[in-house]
Amino acid sequence: MSIAALARDEVRALPLYAPDMTPCAIDVSDNTNLWGAPPAALRVLADVPAESVARYPSLYSTPLRESILRYLGLGGAPGVGVVTGCGSDDVLDSTMRAFGRAGARLAYSAPTFSMIPVFARLNGMEPVSIPLTAAFDVDAERLVACDAAVTYLCTPNNPTATPLSRAAVEYVAAHARGVVVIDEAYAEFSPDTFQELAARHERVLVVRTFSKAFGLAGLRVGYGVAGRELAGLVERARGPYKVNSLAERAVLASLDEGDDALGWVRAHAALAVELRERLVVELRALGFEPLPSVANFVCVPTPRAQLLASRLRERGVLVRALSGLSSDVPALAASNGMALRIGVGPWAVMQQLLDTLDMVKG
Ligand SMILES: *Cc1c(COP(=O)(O)O)cnc(C)c1O
Repeated sequence: MSIAALARDEVRALPLYAPDMTPCAIDVSDNTNLWGAPPAALRVLADVPAESVARYPSLYSTPLRESILRYLGLGGAPGVGVVTGCGSDDVLDSTMRAFGRAGARLAYSAPTFSMIPVFARLNGMEPVSIPLTAAFDVDAERLVACDAAVTYLCTPNNPTATPLSRAAVEYVAAHARGVVVIDEAYAEFSPDTFQELAARHERVLVVRTFSKAFGLAGLRVGYGVAGRELAGLVERARGPYKVNSLAERAVLASLDEGDDALGWVRAHAALAVELRERLVVELRALGFEPLPSVANFVCVPTPRAQLLASRLRERGVLVRALSGLSSDVPALAASNGMALRIGVGPWAVMQQLLDTLDMVKG
């Protein structure tokens, strides 16, 4: 028997994650913090004591969990717990491992974070997708009717950058019978956040990350906040030692109050929001129609996404070209399910992107 035949079907069938990573002078393709990382975190990394490398890190990131609760304003909330992970990817994957029995459903709205159906299949679950509505909201009743073991919501949603309505999120949180995951990877850029639902509903897990607004994507730290029982079960499925000690120290430093820590994060998130609005105006002037964004990136439906992305790449500008987006959503049907996704960063970078786009748009 071949080695491939010995492997689980789900693993053999899985394509590797292979976004375009061509090195480019300007890379706005992955929604990370284009200003860099908080100085307080960088200082900690530059001065690492030997014992924090030679010994294992904390089992389940206990000091970090307390700082995260304070950051979320849930410090004194009774019964609320945190589970950390090697990126929020790890928290999402572990949640499915904890609650997805073989063949159980994972319900989500399309288009959304591309890893979700991948993690579902790897965990033996059946991903079931329901299209977003014309207003880019989830169809809450249809999602709940899936009777899924895990229901995944993402707000602001990647890759559309659009928010979900409070009414829809609260409906799903109140009525879904299984666990409800609310992925808020871009919460720091959004006017509306949902972390308090984790304190109100025992089956809701709100998932966040240090990879986007916090500028620490290379360190791979994410977390989920939920009732203690739910957070504890995800943590069991996750296993010990997942957040390495350097990452934990740097993330802890970034959560301090102060201009070089949380102040840096907040100031750059506010700047990203301001420059996003300016970018939208300039993209419209070039004849594009970005979707309404509440994140640090914009999604621009266009049937010429692949062509434009490759012309931009030839001139040293990397954006993400998306295809196969749900054609049930009218704005995406009009572009044959294709779009460009562009991260927001310093204006000099945005200006170069705009100038190059103007040159190649034809
Ligand atoms: C980037 C992203 C993540 C992954 O974040 P990591 O913490 O780096 O694993 C999760 N969810 C969404 C929606 C994202 O865009």
